[in-house]
Amino acid sequence: MSAALDQPAAVRLSLADALRSARETRALLVGPGVLGETGRLFREQFPGRRAVVVADPETRTVAADAVAAALAAAGIGTEPMYLFPGAGLYAEFGYVTRLEASLCRHDAIPVAVGSGTINDLAKLAAHRTGREGYLCVATAASMDGYTAFGASITHEGAKQTFNCPAPRAVVADLDVIRRAPDWLTAAGYADLSAKLTAGADWILADALGAEPIEPRAWAIVQGGLRAALADPAGARAGRIEAIGPLVEGLMLGGFAMQWTKSSRPASGAEHQFSHLWDMEHHVHGGEAPSHGFKVGVATLAVTRFYEAVLACDFERLDVAAAVAAWPAPETEEAAVRRMFAGTDFIATAVTETRAKHPAPAELSAQLERLRRDWPALRRRLQAQLLPAAEIERRLALAGAPTAPEAIGIPPARLRSAFRRAYHIRRRFTVLDLAVRTGQLERLLDAAFGAAPASTAP
Ligand SMILES: [Zn+2]
Repeated sequence: MSAALDQPAAVRLSLADALRSARETRALLVGPGVLGETGRLFREQFPGRRAVVVADPETRTVAADAVAAALAAAGIGTEPMYLFPGAGLYAEFGYVTRLEASLCRHDAIPVAVGSGTINDLAKLAAHRTGREGYLCVATAASMDGYTAFGASITHEGAKQTFNCPAPRAVVADLDVIRRAPDWLTAAGYADLSAKLTAGADWILADALGAEPIEPRAWAIVQGGLRAALADPAGARAGRIEAIGPLVEGLMLGGFAMQWTKSSRPASGAEHQFSHLWDMEHHVHGGEAPSHGFKVGVATLAVTRFYEAVLACDFERLDVAAAVAAWPAPETEEAAVRRMFAGTDFIATAVTETRAKHPAPAELSAQLERLRRDWPALRRRLQAQLLPAAEIERRLALAGAPTAPEAIGIPPARLRSAFRRAYHIRRRFTVLDLAVRTGQLERLLDAAFGAAPASTAP
């Protein structure tokens, strides 16, 4: 399988082919002016049903009134529009409960008009009230969650992913999306950039026997990725030729996740940083930074880290020494409990770490494989990644932050996140390669300079 993937970007699936792989989403309309087709699409997907448009005051102005008009023009009965409050709305469970209470009074199908927050709130509320689906009208190219299953919602103070299906149909009118606030497009560009490092992590996991690449999901996400990331300045300026491929790239990520029933195709170590900061309840200037901004900063950091990895001579790795230094599971667990003392996710860190902790013989076999295959693996990784300087340049052109301080993460905290992110997910990434070879601190020194005394191992 791996040999065929030496040129990871060679296979490109059309949007229609990719859509056929989506298990829950059956229709996607992307293009300028497609808002007016929402009524026709709704009728095809939910024949005979009434609709309820779900929006907030801002998305009402930019799209929801037009959506309601399109539904009416198609002869679809509608409930009065459900409006979330404008200022201060975020993906918090209380808002799901309130929408649910309203949905319980009728059986209309929700048509969520907005970006990540409104979509996630409606996705979960539609599921919890037993609706057979809902329709999403995307108003910004801000993240890849539109077409993903699951909703990321804060419940009892902690961000959690709730299991619920992806939307039945998605409308992405580029005339609306291109006029969205700059920072939303920047966040979406950053989230799409993450597919470079996520792909590199999957290549590593595939080559080292941790998790094989699923070729269809790979083609869906990686096939057109370089092209979709080609024009960050154009995306920022709202040019259709740049926004269109960006929106499609984000939607494709969700389809690949539906196909594999896993976030692996679209999420690697860089997403673990974002999850970690969510679990740590990180806020900057009183607010949680956007998903895309966290992921973008992490994508750049992980790309720098990869450059240090690619400079390694793993073909000369001292496997016996690495295996001898490998901690026993109980030693590791004690270290994890110390590392996460005072947090509310020690149990997650312990469980995830234990789930992936290899026995010495297994570790030895894997590291021997790394030693043997490293020259070819290094070439595959090099072909997958862009240089860190290029990622930094493009994120800046898109208007996304590149320095961790810009999202309230000091350099020492970014550095410690490499170790902490390793422990919160069992998914095999470049962090696992670094930890298993015993090279984590050395690689961090190479990528970011020697650690200050307080963060030295
Ligand atoms: Zn993401």
